[in-house]
Amino acid sequence: MMKNILSVTNIKKSFGGVHALKGVDLQIKKGEIHCLAGENGSGKSTIIKIISGFYKADDGEIEIDEEYYPTITPAEAINAGVQVIYQDFSIFPNLSVVENLAFNQVLANKKKIVNRREFRKIAKEAIKKINFKVDLNARVETLPVADKQLIAISRALLDNAKLIIMDEPTTALTKKEINRLFEIILDLKKNGVTILFISHKLDEVFEISDSVTILRNGENVISCPVTELTEEKFTYFMTGRHFNNI
Ligand code: ADP
Ligand code: MG
Repeated sequence: MMKNILSVTNIKKSFGGVHALKGVDLQIKKGEIHCLAGENGSGKSTIIKIISGFYKADDGEIEIDEEYYPTITPAEAINAGVQVIYQDFSIFPNLSVVENLAFNQVLANKKKIVNRREFRKIAKEAIKKINFKVDLNARVETLPVADKQLIAISRALLDNAKLIIMDEPTTALTKKEINRLFEIILDLKKNGVTILFISHKLDEVFEISDSVTILRNGENVISCPVTELTEEKFTYFMTGRHFNNI
C-alpha cells in the first residue's frame, strides 16, 4: 500500500453564513496524480487554501507526509513540501525570471543567495528539469501566460516540492499549451512528485488523473480511481443530475 502524502479529514469552513466546506475529506497517495473536481463554488479553492495555510479551518485535521498539523501556517506548508500554483501564478511581473525563481528562498532566507551567479546555475537546472526554455533575464510581464505558469512550477521544484497543487491550471491555456503542461505533469510524476490537479473539465480529468475526488456544495460525493468512473457517472457526481435529465 502506498502511503498518503496528504490526508485531510472533516474540514469545515464558513464565510459568514456561507458553509463553503461542510466536513470535507481528501486523501492523496504518494506519487499519484489526483484530481479534485467539482462545479464552480463547490469548495475546491477553499480546501486548497486551508491545506496551504492561507485560510484557517473551523474544524478538521490535516496530515502531510504522516505529520499531524493541528493548525498550519503558509511557512509550515512550504517546509512540508506543499506548493500551490494558483490561477494567477503568484509571480511578480516586473521582476525577471531568475528573480522570481529565487523569490521564496530569499524570503525564507533558507539558502543564503550571496552569489547571483550561483543562483543562476541552480535556476537553469530547475527550468531544464521541466524542459522549459526561457531567457532568465526576461521581465516576466513580457512572457506568455503559459510561460508564467512554468516559472511557478520551476519555482515550486526549487523549493523542494513533494506535492504540487495546481488550481485550475488550464483555464488560460491553448490546447497546445495544455498538452505541454500535461507532459510536464507526467514527467513530474515520473520523478516522484505528487500532483493535485484541480479541474471541472471532464476530458482533462480522464486524460491526466490516477484518482479523483469530487466535491459538490462543500461536501464529498466520491473518491475513487479514475478507472472506476464513466463519463456518465462523472457528470452525475458533479451535478447531481443524470445525463438524460440535463
Ligand atoms: P471553487 O474553487 O470550487 O469554485 P470556492 O472554494 O472558491 O469554490 O468557493 C466555495 C464557496 O465559498 C462559494 O460559495 C464561494 O462564494 C465561497 N467563498 C470562497 N471564498 C470566500 C471568501 N473569501 N469570502 C466569502 N465567501 C467565500
Ligand atoms: Mg476555484
